[in-house]
Amino acid sequence: MRRLVVLGAGTAGAMVVNKLRRRLARDKWQIIVVDQDDTHVYQPGFLFIPFGTYRPEQVVKPRRQFVPAGVDLVLGEVDRVDAAANEVLLSGGRRLRYDFLVIATGTSPRPDQTPGMLGPLWRTSIFDFYSLEGANALARALEQFEGGRLVVHIVDLPIKCPVAPLEFTFLVEAYLRHRGIRDRVEIVYATPLPGAFTKPIASARLGSMLEERGIGVETDFLVERIDEEAKALVSYDEREIGFDLLVTVPLNMGADYVARSGLGDELNYVPVDRHTLLSTKHDNIFAIGDANDIPTSKAGSVAHFSVDVFAENFRRHADGQPMPGRFDGHANCFVESGDGKALLIDFNYDTEPLPGAYPVPLVGPFALLKETARNHWGKLAFRWMYWHLLLPGRPIPLPAHMSMAGKHRPTTKEE
Ligand SMILES: Cc1cc2nc3c(=O)[nH]c(=O)nc-3n(C[C@H](O)[C@H](O)[C@H](O)COP(=O)(O)OP(=O)(O)OC[C@H]3O[C@@H](n4cnc5c(N)ncnc54)[C@H](O)[C@@H]3O)c2cc1C
Repeated sequence: MRRLVVLGAGTAGAMVVNKLRRRLARDKWQIIVVDQDDTHVYQPGFLFIPFGTYRPEQVVKPRRQFVPAGVDLVLGEVDRVDAAANEVLLSGGRRLRYDFLVIATGTSPRPDQTPGMLGPLWRTSIFDFYSLEGANALARALEQFEGGRLVVHIVDLPIKCPVAPLEFTFLVEAYLRHRGIRDRVEIVYATPLPGAFTKPIASARLGSMLEERGIGVETDFLVERIDEEAKALVSYDEREIGFDLLVTVPLNMGADYVARSGLGDELNYVPVDRHTLLSTKHDNIFAIGDANDIPTSKAGSVAHFSVDVFAENFRRHADGQPMPGRFDGHANCFVESGDGKALLIDFNYDTEPLPGAYPVPLVGPFALLKETARNHWGKLAFRWMYWHLLLPGRPIPLPAHMSMAGKHRPTTKEE
């Protein structure tokens, strides 16, 4: 009996075990998935909790609901991987031998990595929405916010869903307008990037949307520390941004056990081949989802498209054959823009987000790089798809590879 161990039963881990259980013969393969807790959270929903669009209970479900029959769920914290011995060590001392290992333990916000962030201002004037507790606390803080300077801030990249801080900014601007207090609030978007987003065409589009909404942008802002007394972000080049309410995206890092196991880079991401997701060091270890170092967005959509390619490849690789599939870095993300509208971006390693229609050329129904109500409804409908199609590994009629059909280079007017 061969044994596959999957670390992490989040978005990627749940899809991996569902897809592989159907493909691998039960009398030849045992599949074990390990997670530290039994609560699966729908992280894209965190964005909506501060505004009361979603209630916390709408974004959580028991994890075992997404672990299929024939897969063993082990609840426990991974302490270390001993790659030389092909063993995983759990915190309680339990050892799990493996023939093949999939690392899918994601990435987490680490407010402890910025001096001053976790001091007395944490969750009184400094909030995040990258955790359920953070999003809940921020909902209460926003309700009580009556005016002043509100700063939305990213510590450094990569972060999961790199458009989420922009979405939050657009949503909070609309929220304050609807509450009738927009004129009492200065909104500042502070980013380590030279513009609103990483890719030029989308960055120009999203940057002009910030400008139209009267939102100040502080670019190339690399925070060194938070001055708690002055209530200000202080950058390495000694710029200061004062705040009354700070909504930050803390440094995102892969799990610490990855570093302890000698498997990660400086942010605990596992270096992999960007087309096969196979570890660059170990021929029997893959890293999927946010846990790896591939140069595309850390997003559920990337986990989804890459798992499609990986699932086809895995059995061949396990049988000692070449892997036929090559992941192209395909990502797509809805970008909420407030007032019941959203944009959609679709891109891969080689092609930046372009305008057009998705997934069917000319027809859509979704519009690329354009604000529409349909995109917004698509984003809201995605929660249902996530629970019912994506996590159980059911087929979704969206090709894993990005297509150029329906896309075009923007005209000067569109830019
Ligand atoms: C605010 C926000 C908005 C987002 N919006 C979108 C969006 O609109 N579209 C989109 O595509 N993506 C979005 N994402 C990103 C998406 O949620 C993630 O990219 C996706 O969940 C990654 O899946 P994963 O399996 O790699 O990691 P996760 O789903 O985070 O799973 C990792 C799992 O590993 C477990 N784990 C970690 N460490 C250990 C350990 N030591 N021992 C045992 N278990 C461990 C965790 O408990 C967790 O279950 C958003 C994320 C956030 C935070």
